[in-house]
Amino acid sequence: MLSEKIAANLNRSSWIRAMFEEGEKLRAIHGDDKVFDFTLGNPDTEPPESVKNALKKLAMGDMPGIHRYMNNAGFIDVREAIAAQLQKESGVPLTSEHIVMTCGAAGGLNVVLKTILNPEDEVIVLAPYFVEYLFYIDNHGGVPVIVNTSPADFQPDPQELEAHITPRTKAVIINSPNNPTGVVYSEQSLRRMADVLEAKEKEFGNTIYVLSDEPYNKLVYEGIALPQVLQIFKNSFVINSFSKSLSLPGERIGFIAVSPGLEYCNRIMDGLIFCNRTLGFVNAPAMIQKVIAGSLGEAAAVNHYREKRDILYNHLIDLGFSCIKPEGAFYLFPKALIPDDVEFAGIAQKYNLLLVPGKGFGWPGYFRLAYCVSLKTIEGSLPAFEALATEMRSKA
Ligand code: PLP
Repeated sequence: MLSEKIAANLNRSSWIRAMFEEGEKLRAIHGDDKVFDFTLGNPDTEPPESVKNALKKLAMGDMPGIHRYMNNAGFIDVREAIAAQLQKESGVPLTSEHIVMTCGAAGGLNVVLKTILNPEDEVIVLAPYFVEYLFYIDNHGGVPVIVNTSPADFQPDPQELEAHITPRTKAVIINSPNNPTGVVYSEQSLRRMADVLEAKEKEFGNTIYVLSDEPYNKLVYEGIALPQVLQIFKNSFVINSFSKSLSLPGERIGFIAVSPGLEYCNRIMDGLIFCNRTLGFVNAPAMIQKVIAGSLGEAAAVNHYREKRDILYNHLIDLGFSCIKPEGAFYLFPKALIPDDVEFAGIAQKYNLLLVPGKGFGWPGYFRLAYCVSLKTIEGSLPAFEALATEMRSKA
């Protein structure tokens, strides 16, 4: 029989499966092209040519040893390339000694949490949040503490943060560009967070780590420059992946970068490498490590995502929805037209629109649209949103 904990977690996330099954049902009845599925953050675009070419070259070539076990931190040349790229972007001096290659950001987050958490340590998660964080924290005996961002703009709220820090706080997870809102946390917000954390570290005599989950960092619009977490927070880990930036989610490739200023940096690196091994990842997949090393500065389909964002966002605003215009990632997080977001998502299904209720991200009353779908789906969905808004208005 299942463990009690997994059984409880399955129950808690059963609505996700129910939604998926509902989508399958609608597709079977109406056909794929009549169902507008905005539920999954699974990019519909292909990886860039450079990635495909590198993969072909590697597969056709005969590099001795490419398929063997390696250092659990990953190939040294790949880690060097990532360190150099991050140094260029952040201005922070980094070497391969600060990088661990991981099985995506999900693998990286689990490795960091495993490395730093003692039982019952608290990890702050900013809402709205990527729901998997709660399970990852639980995986390693931690306790999630939810702190709301500012409802006006979904930026971190330093006062809320301060009010939730206790002597057991071990870490704060931040995610910008954010899933589900698409919001980019401003430099000012992050610096204010850093001030709060520093004061609390002094008060309690503890280190509070920042885990910056950045899989969308290459998907930013209007030329926005992302604030550099490694510069702002001394005790920080950047966790990143190529799932979204290079459209490679199935290949499970990402990395952890530790801030060179991190206290006990070498010891922590030893812990990360040990946990990468003993969580059973052993090392990140070999061939795809080599492949991404040649495409580090690239981003797949940013202009396509921006076009899709603009079409959908403008249409929703014209229909009277309220929504913050996202500056990154590929999500919109509008307010539902009735207070009950689950009921709203149910009504949307009548129009073959599949949305995720905000409740799933710890933020009821809203819904998430993942617009990493085809332009045809976006354009086909516009009359359905209009019909939905008309029905809701007629009931108001
Ligand atoms: N973090 C966030 C915010 C995500 O949205 C996702 C995937 O959707 C992940 C982490 C996991 O990404 P990966 O495929 O790199 O494990």
